[in-house]
Order: sequence, then structure tokens, then C-alpha cells
Amino acid sequence: MRGIEVTLVEKGNLTHGTTGRMHGLLHSGGRYAVSDKESAKECVQENYVLQEIADHCIEMTGGLFVKRPEDTDEYFRKKLRGCRECDIPTKVLTGEQAREMEPYLATDIDRAIWVPDGADVIASCTSCSLSLRQGYPELFDIEGTEDVSDDTFEALEYLRIHENLESELDDTTVDFPDLAYHAPCHARNQGLARQALETFREVEGVTIEDVGDSCSGISGTHGWKAEKYHTSMEIGEEMFHHMADAEGDVGMIECPTCAMQMEHGTGYEIRHPLQLLEAALVE
Ligand SMILES: Cc1cc2nc3c(=O)[nH]c(=O)nc-3n(C[C@H](O)[C@H](O)[C@H](O)COP(=O)(O)OP(=O)(O)OC[C@H]3O[C@@H](n4cnc5c(N)ncnc54)[C@H](O)[C@@H]3O)c2cc1C
Repeated sequence: MRGIEVTLVEKGNLTHGTTGRMHGLLHSGGRYAVSDKESAKECVQENYVLQEIADHCIEMTGGLFVKRPEDTDEYFRKKLRGCRECDIPTKVLTGEQAREMEPYLATDIDRAIWVPDGADVIASCTSCSLSLRQGYPELFDIEGTEDVSDDTFEALEYLRIHENLESELDDTTVDFPDLAYHAPCHARNQGLARQALETFREVEGVTIEDVGDSCSGISGTHGWKAEKYHTSMEIGEEMFHHMADAEGDVGMIECPTCAMQMEHGTGYEIRHPLQLLEAALVE
């Protein structure tokens, strides 16, 4: 990217080491502005370089350092001074201004420092990731829509890119009901169909069957409308049959709206792939 010829010698796969574990945050340097000013300066300079040469990979979400009631005014001022000394742009926000940017911020936060961090967008629903990636840029002429689109990932897709899930799941045994997996149409549109199968089929204790290509027929709010209900159930019928013919006891799908239709049309209890991942790695 910087016009330098390099030879990469790597003992594992690409991003095998720490890089594959990172959270995807493009640091402003604010985190180190008190404890390690040299690193803070390098961070903010690198942040500008990456914005210049790899703008398509970055969504400038901004970041907030918030002051909790138990944090001292003195440290807040020290952080602000540290950022300024390292040439990290800052804005001091009131609690209300910070909550306008981040509505779920705790109500007892009374001040915050804004810094120019960037981050990726993760959706746990394939229809949501498709909307952000493809639908919104087609529908809206709002500044930044394309950037959000470029930086959006479906959750399992993101974990497969950034974590070594295969080795994490290697020695795991999971206690989970047998699964009938249906790939949502919106996952297929993003090339994500069957990622749950690929991720879990070798895991000890998992039985997962692909029920094949069909459509749930719900299509967002379409199937919720009284006048569209019968059409939606007719479209979904093939999928209901696929599910009924499958061996699994429980359904699995990435899209919560399709999951509702699947549950309604088949009586199956439905799980999300992240629930299986949680059972395998967290519980
Ligand atoms: C949980 C976590 C979250 C993080 N989040 C962020 C973040 O959001 N933003 C951010 O900017 N930074 C983040 N970091 C820090 C960042 O990931 C690291 O600073 C960065 O990845 C280091 O890159 P590197 O190329 O120096 O090392 P590595 O990515 O570890 O690369 C070293 C490579 O050398 C290979 N190697 C080792 N020995 C040999 C050998 N003998 N022969 C050949 N190859 C060998 C390894 O396999 C490895 O791939 C995070 C770190 C962690 C652990």
C-alpha cells in the first residue's frame, strides 16, 4: 500500500499472530495519551496515514472517553491535556451531547472527551448486514453511507475473519440438540450461506444438517401484513417441508425474522449460530 516491496515470511496463515486477534479499532492514540505519550503520537500519525491510503477500510465512528462519577476531575483534565500534547484532536462534550451520539450511555456520565477513533460495524442478522451493505447505499444519499457499507460485517463472518475459530473449536465438545440449518436468502446474497455449517460441522457433539435452498417467505415486514400473510406462507411452504424432512430437533438460521416464520410454520424451536458458539466456547 505504501509502495514498498516486501517479502512476507510467515510461519502460520495470514494474520496468524496478534493481528488476527485485534478488535478492528483504528486508535486515535487517546488511550495512551497519559501513560505513554510516544505511542499516542505514533497512533494518531498512523491514524492519519491509514485514512489517507486505506480510506475504504475505515469507518470514522469517533470514540468517547467518558467520565464516570467516581473518576476525578483531575484525571479528566490530565487526559485532555495529554491528548492535546500529542496532537490528538479532542472535543469536550457534556453528558447530554455524548448521549445524543450514543443514546445508551449511562445517565450518570456528565462529561466526555471525543477522539477520532474508527471501528467496524457488526450485525448479528444477515438481513441487517445486507441492508447496511447494499440497501442503504442504493436508497439513501447520506454522507458516510458508503463508508458504513464498506465496514459492515455479519457477526460470524467477522469472527471467522478475525479469530482462529477453527482452532478455538478444535478440542471443544458441545452439548446441543441436533440441528436443521436453513441458510437465509440474505446470507446467500452476501456469500455467507452455510458458514454455520462450515464452522460447526466438525465440532464434537454437533449434528447439523443443511436443509437446502428455499425461502422463508417472510421478507422483512412483508409477511407480517394481513393481506400478504397467505402469500408469505405459500412461499415458505417449501422451506417448512425441508425442515420437516430433516433429522434435526431444533432449527438454526442467522436471520431472526426468517426464524420467526420458521418457528411459526414448523413448530421448531430456532437457535442462532452465535448461541451454538456461546455453548461451545463460553458456557
Ligand atoms: C485482543 C487484542 C485486541 C487488539 N485490538 C486492537 C485494536 O482494536 N486496534 C489496534 O490497533 N491494535 C489492537 N491490538 C494490538 C494489535 O493487534 C497488535 O499491535 C498488532 O497486531 C501487532 O502486529 P505485528 O505484525 O507486530 O505482530 P503479529 O500480528 O503477532 O505478527 C507476527 C507474526 O510473526 C509470525 N511468526 C512468529 N515467529 C515466526 C517465525 N519464527 N517464522 C515466521 N513467522 C513467525 C507469527 O505467526 C505472526 O503472524 C489488539 C491486540 C489484542 C491481543
